[in-house]
Amino acid sequence: MSDQRRSCHACGLSAAVEALYRKGAYTILRCRSCGLVFTDPHPTHEELERIYSESFFQVGEKFAGQSRSPGMLNAERRARWLLEQRGVTAGRWLDVGCATGDFMMAARPHVAQISGIEMSSYAADRARARGLLDVTNGDALDVSLSADPFDVVTMWDVVEHVIDPQAVLQRASTLLRDGGVLALSTGDIESLAARLMGRFWHLMIPPRHLYFFSPSTIARLLDRAGFDTVSVSRPGKCVPLDFAFWKAATLITPRAGPVALRLSAAAHLGRLAPFVNLGDIMTVLARKRPSSAPGMTKVPDVGGQQPDPLAS
Ligand SMILES: [Zn+2]
Repeated sequence: MSDQRRSCHACGLSAAVEALYRKGAYTILRCRSCGLVFTDPHPTHEELERIYSESFFQVGEKFAGQSRSPGMLNAERRARWLLEQRGVTAGRWLDVGCATGDFMMAARPHVAQISGIEMSSYAADRARARGLLDVTNGDALDVSLSADPFDVVTMWDVVEHVIDPQAVLQRASTLLRDGGVLALSTGDIESLAARLMGRFWHLMIPPRHLYFFSPSTIARLLDRAGFDTVSVSRPGKCVPLDFAFWKAATLITPRAGPVALRLSAAAHLGRLAPFVNLGDIMTVLARKRPSSAPGMTKVPDVGGQQPDPLAS
């Protein structure tokens, strides 16, 4: 496909883009300037509401609330890992996109205070029903929180879903104290698995995923939001088989989702959750620079791409 121009969330209003894949009604575009990969067009508000209805939070969560659910095992691993990182204090933590509260439950015994923000009222209610009282239902960009800064902000598998990731990272920066830590997870479009699977990569799922980051493109957005990227790791996670089955079915056709859910529930697939590491999901740790500090002079090398003229 020939080059087009689109607005790029890293570069600005009009950037040259190339089409990578076609998925249903969506095209996956890559910005020729900064390398950011994103879904075009963005879904409407109504489509987003349909995507994040109740069923979204039930997949892979059949046994949520039981202490050994896959979601809880992953959340506990993440909390333990985060507590071991240099500069992470067990003070005030905020989980953005907390869903039904697995990570908050895992972190709560170890930190002074744990708060959450969740867009879905269904998921926020589920989290509160687990005794997590400080869950705010709303958009991370405009919910009002106490003025006290947080020590740690987490965003597990969130940033690829939001319309404006730059704005969400900026909000996280505003909510953190200087030197505070942001931990997030998201897919890596430059991983071997993503390259081999191409448009069939299991995270290539527009319009649920609107962005497909790499270590360099996420570092660039983080830099512009006032963060220094400290580390990028690929820890792997337990994947419930009902989730894997639902995902495989919906990669073939989105309409297969409800049937896949019923079949996997009948077969109790959600009880099985092998540990999987395809090396294609990044955990990124970033630290907020002091407000007056300048941006990084160098982001990780993006092979052969032009520097972003609007950065810093
Ligand atoms: Zn760009």
